[in-house]
Amino acid sequence: MSTEAYGHICTGQEILASRDARAARQRAWLAQTSDCCLISATMNIAGPCKRSALIDQGFDLGMQMVEQVLDNMQVLIHKQQRWHFKTGCEAFFLVHGEARSIKRIMIWLEEATELGRLLDLDVLDERGAVCSRSDLGLGGRKCLICSYLAYQCARLGRHSSDELVHKTEQILRAALDQTAHLNAQKRISAPD
Ligand SMILES: [Zn+2]
Repeated sequence: MSTEAYGHICTGQEILASRDARAARQRAWLAQTSDCCLISATMNIAGPCKRSALIDQGFDLGMQMVEQVLDNMQVLIHKQQRWHFKTGCEAFFLVHGEARSIKRIMIWLEEATELGRLLDLDVLDERGAVCSRSDLGLGGRKCLICSYLAYQCARLGRHSSDELVHKTEQILRAALDQTAHLNAQKRISAPD
């Protein structure tokens, strides 16, 4: 994994270019099969710096959670890949299943865990159409800091970038500490 992107300050142009590149990759992946939908995962990181060791570890943990929940729901993964761009971490999972039911599972993951609040788990159907929360009759996502909807707080600039970056780091540290704790417990209880 490249660490040279750590601390890189992204320009708006770089972020836009990364979105275009992602959309092209999504089309290319969906063209490879006729009966799979695509989970396109990114992280919701405030501010212009999208990569750090903490962010990378949090993303990898998040993607393990995606793999785990797909396995639990007996969803077959046809192909998957992760990228660590200077504009942020990304992952694709091409999976066998119906987009709406896959999206429901991803929304559950986004909401059931604190770390999930930092994950953007988009689901595209086999024709490339995005299955949105509103398609499933659900409202927008909650703000990380207050009880309002995230897009409202963003539009009104209700929280400073520093406040959001701090909250993001708090969530990442807590999730990684908890995992380290669970792994230590497993090591203690595992027979030699
Ligand atoms: Zn808010």
